[in-house]
Amino acid sequence: MAEAYRAIEVSRPGVFTLVRKPLVDPGPQHVRIRVETCGVCHSDSATVDGLFPISYPRVPGHEVVGRIDMVGDGVRGWTVGQRVGVGFLGGACGYCEFCRGGDLVNCRNQEYTGIHSDGGYAEVMTARASGLMSIPNELSSVAAAPLLCAGLTTFSALRNAPAKAGDLVAVLGIGGLGHLGVQYARHMGFEVAAIARGADKEPLAMQLGAHHFTDSAATDPAAALQALGGAKVILATASGGKTAGTIFKGLRPGGVEIVLGVGPDPIEISSRDLIFGTRRLEGALTGPPAVGDATLRFSVLTGVAAMIETVPLEEAPAAYARMLAGKARFRMALSMTAASSSPERTTQSEAVLS
Ligand SMILES: [Zn+2]
Ligand SMILES: [Zn+2]
Repeated sequence: MAEAYRAIEVSRPGVFTLVRKPLVDPGPQHVRIRVETCGVCHSDSATVDGLFPISYPRVPGHEVVGRIDMVGDGVRGWTVGQRVGVGFLGGACGYCEFCRGGDLVNCRNQEYTGIHSDGGYAEVMTARASGLMSIPNELSSVAAAPLLCAGLTTFSALRNAPAKAGDLVAVLGIGGLGHLGVQYARHMGFEVAAIARGADKEPLAMQLGAHHFTDSAATDPAAALQALGGAKVILATASGGKTAGTIFKGLRPGGVEIVLGVGPDPIEISSRDLIFGTRRLEGALTGPPAVGDATLRFSVLTGVAAMIETVPLEEAPAAYARMLAGKARFRMALSMTAASSSPERTTQSEAVLS
């Protein structure tokens, strides 16, 4: 009988099932990975709730770290035993018009990990080699996992933003993305304004590196940013469309608000605020693998780290529920090596709080 591995699949919308799947060889241009850790991301709800057309059953998970145990035909540059990461973008084709133009994020033939193909809520997964990221030795697999989506998304958006050293950059929301965004913004040399609901978030925001904090429940955050001269960049990590619209007035002329959080409600912005001051509103979708490599290296260099709660694979449904309820502090990660009956639950947050 073929070797089997454990996976948590979504058998139909809203239903997680622990299954055993047969081990199969990777196809051409693909590698097979022994997964060590997979982060739990808000975008996993696309699989759980069927927001995309999904062919069930489907294994979610797109913050995957593991070791290559087999390479398919035609794979160059990756070797068996190498520790690699897989993010949301499953790997670009290399030949479509966007790839030919160097825009790998918008590749026409790219699958989304855990949506179009099985992801990392499993002991084994197969991935397209063109989407792999290289994990530095300095990072544990658990520490690296959230950086492959939450980290890459905030790092890439800030790296491509027009702000220069010393400019005011605002981070809206101190959650899974925002707690990394504040750290990256600080280490990139910006003046950092953190905005979140509730004064209780202030000590953490300052520990993460913010220079200013605004409690959006008590103070108009746009006015607070204008009092500081107006933000060159606003990183909107909270998913509420209303908040993303309100904060837009906090931009200085020539500034840009970058939306990272997907939500159902529209973002309302007046054409007057957009035109007078030539401001921009734009979206950003994670980033290409080379920027993922840069995210990991920059995190090692600067000590930027996610706060992570780790649980065994079979606790994935509970971890997902905790993430969705906004109770995770701040990212959840599934460990494939934790004993299956282990009550052990570790929190890795010292790196941030020290
Ligand atoms: Zn994600
Ligand atoms: Zn392409």
